[in-house]
Amino acid sequence: MNEFQIKPTLHFGNGALDKLGTLTGQRALIVTDQAMVKFGMADMVRQRLLANQMVVSLFADVTSDPDISVIVNGMKQMDADAPDVVVALGGGSVIDAAKGVIYTLWESGKLAKKPCFVAIPTTSGTGSEVTAFSVIKSKGEKWVVVDEFMLPDHAILDPELVKSVPAGITADTGMDVLCHALEAYVSTMASDFTDALAEKAVQLVFAHLLECYQNGSNLEAREKMHNASCIAGMAFTNASLGITHSLAHALGGVFGIPHGRANALMMSHVVAFNANLHGDCQTLAAEKYAHLAKQLGLPSRSTREGVMSLIVAIDVLKEQMNMPAGIRDCEVAEQAFFASLPDLVGPALKDSCTPTNPREVNTHHLETLYRQAFAGI
Ligand code: NAD
Repeated sequence: MNEFQIKPTLHFGNGALDKLGTLTGQRALIVTDQAMVKFGMADMVRQRLLANQMVVSLFADVTSDPDISVIVNGMKQMDADAPDVVVALGGGSVIDAAKGVIYTLWESGKLAKKPCFVAIPTTSGTGSEVTAFSVIKSKGEKWVVVDEFMLPDHAILDPELVKSVPAGITADTGMDVLCHALEAYVSTMASDFTDALAEKAVQLVFAHLLECYQNGSNLEAREKMHNASCIAGMAFTNASLGITHSLAHALGGVFGIPHGRANALMMSHVVAFNANLHGDCQTLAAEKYAHLAKQLGLPSRSTREGVMSLIVAIDVLKEQMNMPAGIRDCEVAEQAFFASLPDLVGPALKDSCTPTNPREVNTHHLETLYRQAFAGI
């Protein structure tokens, strides 16, 4: 028997932010970061909640790749404010932090009732607004907490909120979407339901990501990528992920490489590995990658050709968005990198995304993938 979780309710498209005006509650807490305050988005949310007769407080201290200290500070504020509505406004870091705060308060018995939880993503990347995952950093390692309790009640996808995302972050987060879809698609937990979502997300990324990168004010392209991010999130919260994420989590933990960029650095190498491209290329993952290539209209007369076409398409997209080809292009010195290999491989092997990778891995495999990704060839 298998399961497919459907939550939260999605409100999407232009003007979706106005959903806030229909929420009921007395005290709302906005969890966000300083960029959202600076861009005026925190105020857009605040005004809508105030118009709804709520008392509104703000926790704007979330940092990228939040660590435990952010969660502890957020818990203190949420405990003091006792909100019945929590609105997370920001990228994956903010939404994950809000999840972490709610979950930890609940687990420690300090919440009598779970507040109505609303997630408003302002990047098109993590899909965190629909996932049961929260990624929190502790002592240089990224930990993935998985619990359906953290799923928001409402997700608001308003493309207006992503127009301000700079080109570099658009590229990083967009490749995160592609990685979620590809990893969910070949995961050992993939199903007809998650495959349908993953295929759609891949198509949307190849059709719209480059335009978002080149012309960030194109609202139509932004909306499509925002939807793709959420659709890929629905796929992977049900199918889980694979070793691209495990390897990327460790890279983010040790070298601070942004999550989507770290995934982009590992992705093609993992596709080749999962497909056994340098061997018989007869894995189920190889067939599925080739099927995606065919759907994208790429050369795919054989499984091997399909896999290779998909890898080329990924690498071309990265290049068109001026992304680094290898880890060595990310200000990571060769000596420091090779000295850190045990600190990368160990956490990657025990990462919660590793067990669902379509091909079993050992430390040798992971180290080889890191070595390939360092050079980027
Ligand atoms: P992020 O949330 O760290 O944001 C990146 C930067 O973009 C920040 O400086 C932020 O202030 C800025 N930003 C956000 N929205 C903006 C906007 N509209 N305009 C201008 N700037 C904006 O990046 P992210 O990629 O969204 O999230 C990454 C985090 O999410 C990582 O910690 C990663 O591990 C985690 N993650 C979580 C899940 C999940 O399911 N929970 C999945 C994948 C990744």
